[in-house]
Amino acid sequence: MSVLNMFKFFLSLLAKKDIMAIIITDDCINCGACEPECPNHAIYEGGANWTLMDGTLLKGEQTTPMGNTYHADAIQKPVSDGVYYIVPDKCTECVGFHDEPQCAAVCPVDCCVDDPAHRETQEQLEAKKRFMHLA
Ligand code: SF4
Ligand code: SF4
Repeated sequence: MSVLNMFKFFLSLLAKKDIMAIIITDDCINCGACEPECPNHAIYEGGANWTLMDGTLLKGEQTTPMGNTYHADAIQKPVSDGVYYIVPDKCTECVGFHDEPQCAAVCPVDCCVDDPAHRETQEQLEAKKRFMHLA
């Protein structure tokens, strides 16, 4: 393989690298700075219920790109009772809106981190954004 082809090969690997969703760790100090920054309304205060409909254009029964089915306005149980949390089905890593995750950018204690349990490609995140916002 030529040097040029090797270079192209490594570039293609980088382009296909999975992106991880963001998770909030227990280091969260509940300051609330991240919640209004999320373009998908994917962030909720600990103990608060969430819905698929919040901050999206979704109505009726929906199966998300992650394969979970919800009624858009059905009230869902909190993912965390103690600290702010992110709903994986709604987090796009800010793809489609911003160049970097806004929650991580504003968090004063750097507790919005990559979630190895939720790996998605750029294409999957773009599809999730289109699914929620119909554009
Ligand atoms: S990365 Fe972006 S979309 Fe995901 S929770 Fe944070 S602010 Fe919301
Ligand atoms: S900005 Fe950070 S510390 Fe503040 S609520 Fe969000 S995750 Fe917690």
